[in-house]
Formats: sequence, structure tokens, C-alpha cells
Amino acid sequence: MPERIFNFSPGPATLPPEVLRQAARDIVNYQESGIGLIEMSHRSKPFMAIVDEADSLLRELLDIPDNYKVLFLQGGASTQFAMVPMNLLATGQKASYLDTGVWAAKAIKEARLFGEIEVPYSSKESTYDHVPANGDYQVDPQAEYLYFVSNNTIYGTQFQSFPDSHNMLVCDMSSDILSRPFDIRPFGLVFAGAQKNMGPAGVTVVIIRDDLLDRAPANLPTMFKYKTHADKGSMFNTPPCFAVYAVGLVLKWLRDLGGLAAIERINREKAGLLYDEIDGNDFYRGHARLDSRSLMNITFNLPTPELEAQFIKEATAQGLDGLKGHRSVGGCRASIYNAFPREGVVKLVEFMREFARKNG
Ligand SMILES: *Cc1c(COP(=O)(O)O)cnc(C)c1O
Repeated sequence: MPERIFNFSPGPATLPPEVLRQAARDIVNYQESGIGLIEMSHRSKPFMAIVDEADSLLRELLDIPDNYKVLFLQGGASTQFAMVPMNLLATGQKASYLDTGVWAAKAIKEARLFGEIEVPYSSKESTYDHVPANGDYQVDPQAEYLYFVSNNTIYGTQFQSFPDSHNMLVCDMSSDILSRPFDIRPFGLVFAGAQKNMGPAGVTVVIIRDDLLDRAPANLPTMFKYKTHADKGSMFNTPPCFAVYAVGLVLKWLRDLGGLAAIERINREKAGLLYDEIDGNDFYRGHARLDSRSLMNITFNLPTPELEAQFIKEATAQGLDGLKGHRSVGGCRASIYNAFPREGVVKLVEFMREFARKNG
């Protein structure tokens, strides 16, 4: 493995080095079969075994009951913004959406093409610096589902506990799935693009309660129906073979590390190091409100945009890459998903101290 730098990219994001090494070997020659992983038929025995294993590892890690299906789809998380309402909302039906960032707003825009959408809470006016607590909003009991984004990648906010609404929950967990344990039973559907916390780009995982599969209107095109993919075990058409395989390796890595309770402890520790520095050093100011802070994306500002630009430039020169904040909020963002190593966080904290000392 060539020398690796610390990659704080928000996504696609850093992956465990052992996963990359294994994938590099398997791409050329999958398990000594003489065929490379990305040259195999998706109907071949070895590939079917790869999909089955990814499915069962995900079930084990997230403790998914049998009445949920796991689907491996293409089109990215953004396609789910439309697929969710297309499949779950009949004409005249209503759904409720919490507006906690750009990804939520995009989902709201798509959902409005298909049904009546209420937005009982928005944190837009404070540049999405927080997520609501239970009791901050009221959901129409008639709403078919309550949609939210568990972790707001761009702003660095995260639901600390999930909505306690009686409505069925639907969640975009693209940037924090598998970062902590949760109870899936209040959820009708959870989806996540793999490229933040689960693997490479190219596959979106959808976990859907099976009684919802028959809700889709009959005139929905085949490929846009969850049922099509559920009935065929994500093999209705060619799945994104490499991405599914790589997600499987990441899931194995996570299981061997001790599963979600273990990774949550590690994630809290890593994020804590950075938040301690932000809180203890006047030079830095966190973007997210204290009660909404993300363990995955840590957003902060320096006294001026000029200093921020200099900070990012000098950090990059020291092998701390990808710290520029999203263009819509500016500032800095350290994305430290499951696979991001603790040493990189320690190195960033040291760099922050030194930079503040020299420029403060
Ligand atoms: C990145 C991201 C998306 C968009 O994912 P694509 O796969 O690029 O469509 C959606 N939601 C959240 C929370 C994200 O972080």
C-alpha cells in the first residue's frame, strides 16, 4: 500500500485500507478463480454468494427483522427522493417532511411532484445549524409517513434521538448509517447511498418493510417499483456488482471490529477530540448547535474567510485533505466516518492548535 494521507472527504470517503487491499486483489483474480471480480456474471454462483452475504451481514449488524427487505439499487440516494413518494403515496395522500438541510429540501421538492407535503419544521433560517427535538413540531396524524434526514452532511448536524411520532418513519441515512445502533421497527423505509459510510459510490441500500411493497400505483414503471427489486433479490437487472461486493467487505470489517456498539464508542471518542478543541479554543467556532452536533461531519469556522483558506491550504500540505466546507456554508468540515482513523483526528487537532497559536 503506498503511503496514505488523511482524507477528510465528505463522500466518496475514506475506506478501511484492508478493504481496499482485498478489493485490489479480487478485481484481478477473485478467490483464485482465474476471473476478476468485475468480470463475473451477476448470475454466477460466486456473485450470488456475495449478494447473499452482504444482505445477511447488514441484517446482523442492524438487527433487521424478517419482515423487511434489503435492496441494492442504483441511481444514488437522490433517486430515492422520488422513489419514496412514487411508491408510498397514492394520489391525494399526504406526507410530512422535516426540513433540516439541502438533502431534505431536495427530497421535499421531489415529493411535491407526487402528493401533498407538509413541512412542520424547518431550520433553514439559521443556516440549518440544528435539528428539531421531539415536541418542537406537530405532525398531521393523517400523514402517511414522516420523512427526515438523520445526519445533515453539509451542516454537521445529526438527530441525537429519532422522532417519536406515531406516523411511520422514513429516513435518509446516507451519511450516518452503521455509525450507531438504532431500532428499525418504527421505520417503514430507510435508505442510504453507500459512498459516505458504507463503501464506494454506485449502490444505494434500501431497507423496506415488506407490507409497503404493494402500495405502488400500477402505472409506475417497472424499474421504479421497490417490489420489482424485492421480488428478484436485487437481481431484476444487473446490479452494481463491484459496489455491492465492496459494501460486503466493509460490513465484514465492521462486524469484526465489534459491530455498531463498538463503532459508536469509537465515533464518539473521535468526534469528542475535535469538539473539545473547537470549544476550548476561541479561534474556532462550531457551526452546529451543541444539541445537534454530528459525530460524522464536524463543521467549524475561523475568524475570517481568508484564515479559513490559509488553514485549508496548510492542512492539505501536511497531508490533511478535504477539509473545505460545502460551498453553501463555507468554513471547514472534517468528515470522520466509521473508517476514518483516530490518528488522523489527533493529527488535525494538533494542526488546529498550532495554526491558532501562529495566527490567533
Ligand atoms: C450525499 C447525500 C445524498 C446524495 O447522494 P447521491 O448518492 O449523490 O445521490 C443524499 N442524502 C444525504 C444525507 C447525503 O449525504
